[in-house]
Amino acid sequence: MNFFNRILGLFVVVSLGACQDDNTSSELPDLRIYLDRFEEEASKRGYNLNLSEVEAEYVDRVETPDDSFCGMGFSNYFNNNIRRIEISTDPSCGWATMNDIQRERLFFHEIGHAFLNRRHDEAQLCDGSPLSLMTTRIGNTYSESNEKRDYYISELVDRVAAADQCIRFPQTFRTNPIFYRAFEGDGNWFFYSDNDNYTGEAGTPANERFRFSIESNNKNTENTGYWHRTFSNPNFPECSDVTFRATINAEGLTGPGVAIVARAYHNPVSATGAELEEYLFLTSEDDPATGKFSNDTRELTIPCFSRKTSHIVIILVMLPGTTGEAEFTDVELIVIEEPS
Ligand SMILES: [Zn+2]
Repeated sequence: MNFFNRILGLFVVVSLGACQDDNTSSELPDLRIYLDRFEEEASKRGYNLNLSEVEAEYVDRVETPDDSFCGMGFSNYFNNNIRRIEISTDPSCGWATMNDIQRERLFFHEIGHAFLNRRHDEAQLCDGSPLSLMTTRIGNTYSESNEKRDYYISELVDRVAAADQCIRFPQTFRTNPIFYRAFEGDGNWFFYSDNDNYTGEAGTPANERFRFSIESNNKNTENTGYWHRTFSNPNFPECSDVTFRATINAEGLTGPGVAIVARAYHNPVSATGAELEEYLFLTSEDDPATGKFSNDTRELTIPCFSRKTSHIVIILVMLPGTTGEAEFTDVELIVIEEPS
């Protein structure tokens, strides 16, 4: 299951945010100032980081095939294992007229992408301000050296720093625990067919519930066929129980059968940068559903969810050597908040 390479290929993310202010400086600062300053800030928080290998350059414009940007952080520049930050000097971006704190904000945000493997995060605190400097609204984070700045830098280095803040969650989980329920038209599901050994369909037959199917006619398959969906930057209360659930039906499977899997990832920071790591793998593959069965509900629970989690992946799997068709309905992610 190597789908993560594809997903993380998109790790090159960006920031918009030109800002105007009165404090102008005529010369552009050496960008290493901000790399060094970030090392210092991390050190104050107990992290011994070394950003000497991080490239930081001014460029005329930061361009992608689709757009142009004011800054860019690459965690793996052109797949060369280079961490690189580019800051655009294009007048429309305003770098030349930004004050030191504004430059720091933008640059630290790019460090988030390039060194800490972070993606944009638009979660909010209870007062509506961004929860993270990884927001695209960096102008609404901090504008001077104060407590807010301390918080945003702490959260940048360690997402768990937000856990004791008043956070605006996507919903009130105590009364509405179903965070996600699979629906027709959700474009974030992908099917892996193992070179067409498996057929996957998603749809809603007349008068029936939305379902995914997986079918195989080849009993000699060596890999799994599966549907998968990723949830990035899950914003759940700290230490919630997060349950992935699906109901499975089959008329007659032969071989090992079908199962569900949940994977959780984080990006622990070492001295030379964060590395993606799977920290939890849950599966019903040890007890797959096979033969003929109806409304067999399986669930897997991530106990005591942590904000360190950068991604959760849920997967519907047909195991190698299985033939027949299975249908998965009521695919849900449920968040049970810890009793307060
Ligand atoms: Zn960005």
